[in-house]
Amino acid sequence: MIAEILAVGTELLMGQITNTNAQYLSRRLNDLGVNVYYHSVVGDNPVRLKESLKTALSRADLVISTGGLGPTQDDLTKETVAETMGLKLVLNEEIYQKIRDFFERVNRKMMENNVKQAYIPENSMIIPNNNGTAPGCMIEKDGKIVVMLPGPPKEMIPMFEETVFPHLEKKTGQTIGSRMLKVFGIGESEMEMKIMDLIKAQSNPTIAPYVNMGEVVVRVTARCRDAGEAESMIDPVIEKIRERLGTNLYSVNGETMEEVVVKLITEKNINISVAESCTGGMLASKLVNVPGVSKVFEKGFITYSDSAKIEILGVSPDTLKKYGAVSRETALEMVDCLIKKTGTRAGISITGMAGPDTAPDPVPCGSAHSPDALKKPAGLVYIAVYLDGRTECAELKLNGDRERVRHVACLNALNMLRKMIIEVRR
Ligand code: ATP
Repeated sequence: MIAEILAVGTELLMGQITNTNAQYLSRRLNDLGVNVYYHSVVGDNPVRLKESLKTALSRADLVISTGGLGPTQDDLTKETVAETMGLKLVLNEEIYQKIRDFFERVNRKMMENNVKQAYIPENSMIIPNNNGTAPGCMIEKDGKIVVMLPGPPKEMIPMFEETVFPHLEKKTGQTIGSRMLKVFGIGESEMEMKIMDLIKAQSNPTIAPYVNMGEVVVRVTARCRDAGEAESMIDPVIEKIRERLGTNLYSVNGETMEEVVVKLITEKNINISVAESCTGGMLASKLVNVPGVSKVFEKGFITYSDSAKIEILGVSPDTLKKYGAVSRETALEMVDCLIKKTGTRAGISITGMAGPDTAPDPVPCGSAHSPDALKKPAGLVYIAVYLDGRTECAELKLNGDRERVRHVACLNALNMLRKMIIEVRR
């Protein structure tokens, strides 16, 4: 397979930014055994973009464009690709709904030009974007594949790794083995520092780290003769990474945090209950997404308001009054009351300010009447985890929109329980 990378953006031509996307994609396509013959760069000009695309399609089987997917007038990639390939742009209801939800979540008015992002060329495959609003898409027509990704690397890389890479892996006909490692509890830069020498020293297998929705993911890819050889090439690399990252490495098979935690608690026969404020049932929902959780999941309470915390859990009104709903004391009392009620071996409570940060007076998850309303910043979350008589509490300062804060709070809560179980096991 021959590929060409087409970077779109006047900023690139003016030397204001470096084309790191082309470098990244070339490296990853090489891992897949795809030959990259040309990189091209074109400004935000539909005539020249069309010309560049036609040229790329005349000499490559796969064209990957980056940039120009945003909502503004000069973001023209989708329109131009559709026109060049003779395809209509159609409104995709699912994307439209996601964009609407995003604006609702961050409390901002959705503009007419944001709707533009919900139009995609007919018969194309959507590439979800968990880290921004512009989705990508992939078109297969007349033996050619065109992939459109957004410009920001923080969005482009996870989209490539999660959707495009696995798709191309199936198409290339090369034998490639790849494993997805999931890391939690350290940031991307700290993790990179710990494994940078391994990343630099490896050419086959290769190691590619990136961040997706608050989690660090590392993909290890080997080009090989058969699946058995891939495993024997990849396993020692994983072991080296494990030595460096310790228990922060929570999965070597791409499992979600909830899958790992449910497996662990099922193995150890630990039943669990949860009491949630700002996550509003998201933690329970994540647990319930895992098949077989019924063996261990006992009860979940959504105690969003102060009165729910008092009436349902039995949290003392004095605690709420003195420290506020979003406090270490409330989180600890929530989990304490929860365990008294349910008697489970493990329990998790979460209370926090989900945001958005754009709101002038952030409303706490608990109650609009709480003294927290004016004092505590959006993204402040307290988690208390109980396991067999031991309780730990953490204060988090998270950033991002409401959805992300709630999601990352759940991941942190599950990770705390995971670590407490692993420590007990040792
Ligand atoms: P958005 O929805 O954010 O507008 P987009 O797909 O329209 O995304 P552009 O507007 O073209 O993307 O670029 C947005 C930003 O992404 C740039 O300002 C730059 O920081 C980064 N970017 C774009 N192209 C590249 C590239 N080829 N290499 C590295 N960074 C890039």
